[in-house]
Amino acid sequence: MEGRRLTALAGVGPRLAERLQRLGLETVADLLLHLPLRYEDRTRLRPIGGLSPGESVLIEGRVEWAEVATGRRKRLLCRLSDGTGQLELVFFHFYPRQAERLQRGAVLRCFGEVRSAYTGLQMVHPEYQRVAPGDGDRPDEEALTPVYRATEGLYQGQLRRLVDAALGWLPEALPDRLPAAALPDTGWPDLEQALRLVHRPPPEADTAALLDGSHPAVRRLAYEELLAHHMTLRRRRQALHAEAGAPRLDGGGALAERLCRSLPFTLTGAQQRVAAEIAADMARAVPMLRLLQGDVGSGKTVVAALACARAVGSGYQAAVMAPTELLAEQHLRSLEAWFAPLGVEVAWLTGGRPAARQRAALERLAAGEAGIAVGTHALFQESVAFCRLGLVVVDEQHRFGVHQRLALKEKGGGCEPHQLTMTATPIPRTLAMTAYADLDVSALDERPPGRGAVQTVVLADRRRAEVVERLRAALDEGRQAYWVCTLIESSEELEAEAAADTAQQLGEALPEHRVALVHGRMGAGEKEQAMTAFARGEVALLVATTVIEVGVDVPNATLMVIDNAERLGLAQLHQLRGRIGRGSASSACVLMYHGPLSESARQRLAVLRETDDGFAIAQRDLGIRGPGEMLGTRQTGALSLRVGDLHRDADLLEAVQGAAGELLDSAPEAAAALIRRWVGEAERYGQV
Ligand code: ADP
Ligand code: MG
Repeated sequence: MEGRRLTALAGVGPRLAERLQRLGLETVADLLLHLPLRYEDRTRLRPIGGLSPGESVLIEGRVEWAEVATGRRKRLLCRLSDGTGQLELVFFHFYPRQAERLQRGAVLRCFGEVRSAYTGLQMVHPEYQRVAPGDGDRPDEEALTPVYRATEGLYQGQLRRLVDAALGWLPEALPDRLPAAALPDTGWPDLEQALRLVHRPPPEADTAALLDGSHPAVRRLAYEELLAHHMTLRRRRQALHAEAGAPRLDGGGALAERLCRSLPFTLTGAQQRVAAEIAADMARAVPMLRLLQGDVGSGKTVVAALACARAVGSGYQAAVMAPTELLAEQHLRSLEAWFAPLGVEVAWLTGGRPAARQRAALERLAAGEAGIAVGTHALFQESVAFCRLGLVVVDEQHRFGVHQRLALKEKGGGCEPHQLTMTATPIPRTLAMTAYADLDVSALDERPPGRGAVQTVVLADRRRAEVVERLRAALDEGRQAYWVCTLIESSEELEAEAAADTAQQLGEALPEHRVALVHGRMGAGEKEQAMTAFARGEVALLVATTVIEVGVDVPNATLMVIDNAERLGLAQLHQLRGRIGRGSASSACVLMYHGPLSESARQRLAVLRETDDGFAIAQRDLGIRGPGEMLGTRQTGALSLRVGDLHRDADLLEAVQGAAGELLDSAPEAAAALIRRWVGEAERYGQV
């Protein structure tokens, strides 16, 4: 019964079904879970004298006069009075007959939004009908009228009629599958009551609470949905564990130990803890699927290197993948410096290399001579064959949410490699719990010692000259600086041009200092040259597009200017700023904006000025942008919630976690039915 198609409802033929499908509605249950966007109150007539602009109301009144006004735009005006006040109806589109029918003395019942005009209150194009005088007290509706998200060719009236029919099929159409014990609040209505209330609230219902999600009926539905999503992820994870089939990489302790001893620093407590968590995962025959979150500069690379050492020490290979060539190069440099002395060969694989050298690297990998491969996505092309791939590290930096389980079986020669994904944007706990229930999450929540503070200032770009003077002062002291150019167009070419212009201007303004340029349109060699020169201190000022947000590590750089900072999101700004404050000297970040600022841009810049705690920033980001926007591609599919809202309903997630385990164990059939109901048959999560 629950899976009934909508065509089972009277009047739903193929055409209507197709339109409903555009809204994602395929079954009767889907329709019942399609909640109203808002409500209209047609249950009572409102006295005109008590109306305020912005309200949508039902009124009734006698026509005082009606006339066609000319002037700038021809329109039909009609003044209504109900004894408590007067209101004017305005029609820009009308038939001549219409004007005639609005005779003085006729009684009209109208529904529409009240606006205020200089002549008094108005309704523009209200719905209206003539009624017999004295009909006055009989309202149009007994319940509030829901307004649904609709689509072309599908009308509110049709949707309401269909929902009414579907409500008639309750409870069978959507049986309540949650045992009372699984509900965190005993005061909540059951499923049927909740649905009836949400679709057809009585006139006295608290519509504000229904719309903002604080009403128990909505909470009940949101809870069930969050629970279904959470159970889906748990089930996925159980399935993964059942597959087993990963190599046990438990032989690399000695190599990891040697790597640790060769480092010029000691690991932070957090690094040690996380490295141990990873080592324990890798020692099992179940593929690791771990997300390592750590703020910029928290030292994720060395943790990844330790995991690589464990793979290599166990006789397997490791692959380290970065999202951009620049970042991959940076990893290559670190890993080579760390592993070459230990006799472990690192192979370098990217798209843009001379074929002969690429071939040589491929051969070394296939033969098992190279223990570690570093590169971009090129690593996972068909032509790349590993000898015994045991570990894959994916460094996504701020590319928050795009992590996914890579289909790597074939690269692992039938075994599934362990997988470690690193992200620089700490994921708020509420999101991590729900969105990442299929992953283990480790956090590097401690920064390496000895870092200077970063002061952040927000300035309008008309004060550019002052900023350039500040830059000069820093460079004169022997410091280095970044100047980051951003563009609203996603055109790499325009962005590159803007950066080139800025580099030229700044070069002219600061003739005594060397300026270099890095942007996405440059060849890998050129970029590398500029970056290396900057890293060595030969270049004082690096003008760059946002490509530098990833990975660059120059402790002597103490100033960063971000041009048009209002165009970037919080996570990205935080990433960029993470490039400075890496040495012991104090640093400054100047966020230059081009006014006027939108409200959300103003908020973003204020957040950055207030804090440099990546975790707090992520939490604020969630508040400003909402989880849908914050999570990447995979999550938009997985977490397109119909009722629930991860931010709004965060307080329910604790209970969701507890109930999910219970239900999966004790009532697997109800769990499966809930997953089908809310998440769908075709696992929207996809297989990767
Ligand atoms: P991120 O987490 O942003 O990738 P990195 O791995 O690039 O951070 O590390 C940032 C810098 O901190 C590097 O120069 C790295 O060598 C250094 N570093 C990492 N761990 C420590 C530590 N425990 N003590 C001191 N410096 C460290
Ligand atoms: Mg990094």
